Amino acid sequence: MASDMGFDVGLVSNGYGATSVEDAVEWLRPLAGFIDGISVSTDLFHCNEKLNRQARNARAAAKKLGIPIGFLQIAQPEETKVATNVGQLPPGWSGVMFRGRAAEKLVDRVPHRDWKQFTSCPYENLRDPGRVHIDPLGNLHLCQGISIGNLFKTPLGKLSRNYDPDKHPITGPLLKDGPVQLARQYGLRHKKAYADACHMCYEMRLALRKRFPGILTPGQMYGVLG
Ligand code: SF4
Repeated sequence: MASDMGFDVGLVSNGYGATSVEDAVEWLRPLAGFIDGISVSTDLFHCNEKLNRQARNARAAAKKLGIPIGFLQIAQPEETKVATNVGQLPPGWSGVMFRGRAAEKLVDRVPHRDWKQFTSCPYENLRDPGRVHIDPLGNLHLCQGISIGNLFKTPLGKLSRNYDPDKHPITGPLLKDGPVQLARQYGLRHKKAYADACHMCYEMRLALRKRFPGILTPGQMYGVLG
């Protein structure tokens, strides 16, 4: 349906079903002609080899079906030293963004920098988003855990029209002065240093969840089940 409506449609997967090339072909066949590309995650966070068997099977199947395919590969924190310094990584690899689980489990593996440096969001175009994420509960995210509404309650067009980036309680401060502004505007306690902007952003949002429960949602994005 999305393809018929003219959207670019992509699939992001860990390739779990691609146990053989033949299986992968069968899983992907119904999508051939409808999706513009597939991205398969394969790295040491997903399995015990950087390019695993399922990803290789998915690539072979996608090629047979004429579906463009690429890999999403995240380097180990120590491989980048400074998370945003991706120039030192092989082509196609990305550094860790320290948000969600990464903000809790991986931050100790990289040097931290002064909190005052994080005066912008380095990754998302919050003013004019070219893409959004939708979770299974219907929440529409600008960045995982920052919602602008719920698609099960409000149509996408209305959510898009209603989004005012400067007035939004989270993107407003982020656009003004990054995660630093979240701390300043809401008077939040903060550490002296963080792994990257996302690490500080995530911790500030965690502290603001009770204040903005409909925006900083769902719990799963913040390590809370249910
Ligand atoms: S976590 Fe915050 S700083 Fe990082 S990409 Fe998302 S909005 Fe930007």
